[in-house]
Amino acid sequence: MRIDIITCLPEILTGPMDQSILKRAQDKNLVKIKLHDLRDYSSNKQRSVDDYAYGGGAGMVLMIEPIDNCIKYLKGHRDYDEIIYMSPDGELLNQRMANELSLRQNLIILCGHYKGVDERVRAHLITREISIGDFVLSGGELPAAVLTDTIIRLIPGVLNDESSALSDSFQDRLIAPPVYTRPADYNGLIVPDVLLSGHEKKIEEWRHEQSLERTKERRPNLSDN
Ligand code: SAH
Repeated sequence: MRIDIITCLPEILTGPMDQSILKRAQDKNLVKIKLHDLRDYSSNKQRSVDDYAYGGGAGMVLMIEPIDNCIKYLKGHRDYDEIIYMSPDGELLNQRMANELSLRQNLIILCGHYKGVDERVRAHLITREISIGDFVLSGGELPAAVLTDTIIRLIPGVLNDESSALSDSFQDRLIAPPVYTRPADYNGLIVPDVLLSGHEKKIEEWRHEQSLERTKERRPNLSDN
């Protein structure tokens, strides 16, 4: 899989892409993540990528030209399954979408900044818009990092124990059961007996019951997703 991220502030993304599971996935060649600085695709001397909004009002808008140049350049090298714009009013990201996107080969993720991007980008260059929640961030970089992380950890081989992603919350429309580690007794706070019993079947049943209970309590609408 390959993910190309277009941004006017690549520095925000270098940290998250270069640590932990995302780094390991790239080191193992399971995914290529490429950051593209929008300024490299600007056609003016100042390398500017934004301008004032027509009609006035506060806040700059990312221009269509460098975005179009960058997308054209990338599309000249390979076909893309989706060209995603991170946007607060896009489809709300959930585990089902992450699963679906983890099966794709090539994705472009465009990060907005300031007031957003020229509407013509959204209308003509983008195939999908995704939001990470009903709140507004300063730029699409953190949302792009969230989307990339949630997709990549689902690619087979990325997590050491493959079943680990499958037993996380929202897979199978269930919340994950509680987990414990040593010590078994911390100042009188004890770990449920069943987990120490070594009885695999009973442990499995207990975990499933806990999952069902938690789902009912915390995300009763999960089956709607
Ligand atoms: N003026 C816009 C907000 C712009 S925020 C509005 O009111 O809708 C600047 C950029 O941050 C956006 O272009 C988008 O790429 C990103 N962004 C902000 N919040 C986001 C969210 N919840 N999910 C995804 N992207 C978001």
